[in-house]
Amino acid sequence: MLYISPMDTTFPEFAPGSVWLVGAGPGDPGLLTLLALHALKSADYVVHDALVDPRIVAMAAPGAVVESMGKRGGQASPRQAEITARLLELARAGKRVLRLKGGDPFVFGRGAEEALALADSGIPFRVVPGVTAGVGGLAYAGIPTTARDCNSSIAFVTGHGQDGEVPAGFDWDGLARGAQVLVFYMALRQLDKVVARLLAAGRKPDEPAAIVSKAATPRQAVLESTLSRIVDDLAAHPMEPPAMLVVGGVVALRRHLSWWSPG
Ligand code: SAH
Repeated sequence: MLYISPMDTTFPEFAPGSVWLVGAGPGDPGLLTLLALHALKSADYVVHDALVDPRIVAMAAPGAVVESMGKRGGQASPRQAEITARLLELARAGKRVLRLKGGDPFVFGRGAEEALALADSGIPFRVVPGVTAGVGGLAYAGIPTTARDCNSSIAFVTGHGQDGEVPAGFDWDGLARGAQVLVFYMALRQLDKVVARLLAAGRKPDEPAAIVSKAATPRQAVLESTLSRIVDDLAAHPMEPPAMLVVGGVVALRRHLSWWSPG
């Protein structure tokens, strides 16, 4: 049952000729914001990336045109310019354009680039934050982002840079010392390199670590391990993207907090 009408007049108008850059959360449609639902019900065009759960795309208004545009697995995307051009084209044609992105649009999703292009072109836009995988997805895996006895800091890190490699010029020693919990997005392909850098930078081999795959979706899977074992454990139990690597004491709380299981 829908408790609040998405057409409630208190929602801002989705003006023709504007683009809304909206986060769809990590999977579970229940994690959509009311503004995201309002946008889905009002948009003429829904341009979504590959991470957006199909159950959410299906919530678009019946007359809306749905276009799938976006990268998978965080690879460098030759199509980013094309996506941006499409958003501009649709907005200039007077459409209400919903650019729907997995998680939060401004967390590792190139949303900032898209917003900058809109700003540059004078296209009116709105940003609707979403639940990022590194917070909401981990919660579905029973891993809190902070816990009083574990960590007073957390770092969200991309597992690879623009060229698909471990980010160049990255201060691994600073990262390893600076945050008690580390969450790597897009970490699967570079897992061995990321783990080697963290160990070399002084993180403890027996530190709890986990891979969280397809969080908050019907295919959520979690591999719990330690920093020194996780590469071998992943080889023995392959996990599907999208997935995150989490390192730190909060992973161990999963033993008590694993409240959700898919299906
Ligand atoms: N804007 C997104 C992140 C985009 S980068 C957000 O805020 O969540 C893509 C990476 O996000 C993936 O490689 C993976 O590391 C992570 N990710 C996104 N959705 C996920 C999910 N449901 N489960 C696990 N990881 C996810």
